[in-house]
Amino acid sequence: MNSENLKPDEIKKSIFDLLIRHEKLINKLLSPDPMIEGCIHIIYKKCGNPKCHCKDGKLHGPYTAIVRKQNGKSKLTYVDKLDIIDKAKAYKKYNKRLASLRKINEKIFSYLRYLRDINTTIYEK
Ligand SMILES: [Zn+2]
Repeated sequence: MNSENLKPDEIKKSIFDLLIRHEKLINKLLSPDPMIEGCIHIIYKKCGNPKCHCKDGKLHGPYTAIVRKQNGKSKLTYVDKLDIIDKAKAYKKYNKRLASLRKINEKIFSYLRYLRDINTTIYEK
């Protein structure tokens, strides 16, 4: 981040703004909806029947599936229930918010480090 031109008051204001966003995020993260682990994938596929229209590129689908890692491998499970999809979406949203929280924390950290540095000198004899 480029804090080079910021005055301490501007940094304080920026940090307080970030803290407001931080608190809002924490509040959302503290009461999660039920979630299902994995990524939602929309899948089109061939059925293997040589006489089927999918042979010429008009694939079957869309099918919805949840993909997650299990023992280092991707495991795909087809989904037909809407509430399952919603729970997988909630998982994705939760992870997005976690990522935002980390970014905000990094910004705050970076501002504070800058504040530390502009208030620090070296003592030598
Ligand atoms: Zn087919």
